[in-house]
Amino acid sequence: MAQLIAGKEVAKSVRMGLKSRIAALKEKGVTPGLAAVLVGDDPASATYVHSKARACEKLGLYSEIIRRPADLTQDQLLDIVHRLNNDDRVHGILVQSPVPSHIDEFAVTLAIDPAKDVDGFHPHNVGLLLIGRPGLISCTPYGIIKLMEYYDLDPSGKEVVIVGRSNIVGKPIAALLIQKAKWANATVTVAHSRTANLAEVVRRADIVIAAIGHAGTITADMVKEGAIVIDVGINRIDDPAAEKGYRLVGDVDFENVEPRTSWITPVPGGVGVMTIAMLMSNTVLAAENIAG
Ligand code: NDP
Repeated sequence: MAQLIAGKEVAKSVRMGLKSRIAALKEKGVTPGLAAVLVGDDPASATYVHSKARACEKLGLYSEIIRRPADLTQDQLLDIVHRLNNDDRVHGILVQSPVPSHIDEFAVTLAIDPAKDVDGFHPHNVGLLLIGRPGLISCTPYGIIKLMEYYDLDPSGKEVVIVGRSNIVGKPIAALLIQKAKWANATVTVAHSRTANLAEVVRRADIVIAAIGHAGTITADMVKEGAIVIDVGINRIDDPAAEKGYRLVGDVDFENVEPRTSWITPVPGGVGVMTIAMLMSNTVLAAENIAG
């Protein structure tokens, strides 16, 4: 029987750890601040942005949501980013993804001051991560490392198979886990949609990290007995019995995989809650760095 990796509990401990750092900044007259730019009216994006703002308020951080219609031009969005780069109240800037298709998301990422890039998506921070230097680490991969730390699940020397190679999850978690550092030193394989014999590759893993975006891709026959399974996926599936008509599930067939594992993250309540906690952590770190 697996033990559950309770993201909510770990996220709470991350938030608790931030309180004294926030108080120390406030004593210096600095209130860490996060600005989120929301372009268009995608309901899921609006929900995410509001959760981030609520998390800021609960910790006593300054937060600002800048809402703009979907026909905002790229230049107008870049102007907003430039203004926020120069706004002393703002230490973290995020532009909620996805942006409308006429906007070049990478150009927007490049425009964000790397010191305020609390999503950790700017190539400056991605480069620092790869070479093992301090920087702003993207929130979901950082949250996964914090989950491992909290439960003392040391990846050192372990075979880790990451399924998914996106720039926001798969690649940065691989870069973190191969570092010659504490809570790293893993032997990492990154699988994707072109991987031959996915089941065989995943079966090698002591630790499976699923970041795919398709419900139930990781099935029980793919998981080694006693493995640790970290499910990053967030997928909506129709459920007429649920109040909203849908429910959230991960990329792992939880019901059948769970009995084979030693530790597993639930969805929801696993990695997802860590992402927002690490965003708060990055905002505080950015404020500390900027305040010197
Ligand atoms: P992307 O769509 O950017 O990447 C998905 C990756 O999965 C790709 O590398 C793709 O391969 C690979 N893939 C797709 N299908 C298969 C398959 N059948 N077998 C093997 N590999 C496959 O997604 P993201 O990384 O952005 O997100 C992944 C999931 O994590 C989503 O459900 C998303 O909602 C969730 N997520 C959760 C977060 C959280 O806070 N918990 C934060 C960010 C994301 P290829 O490259 O070949 O196309």
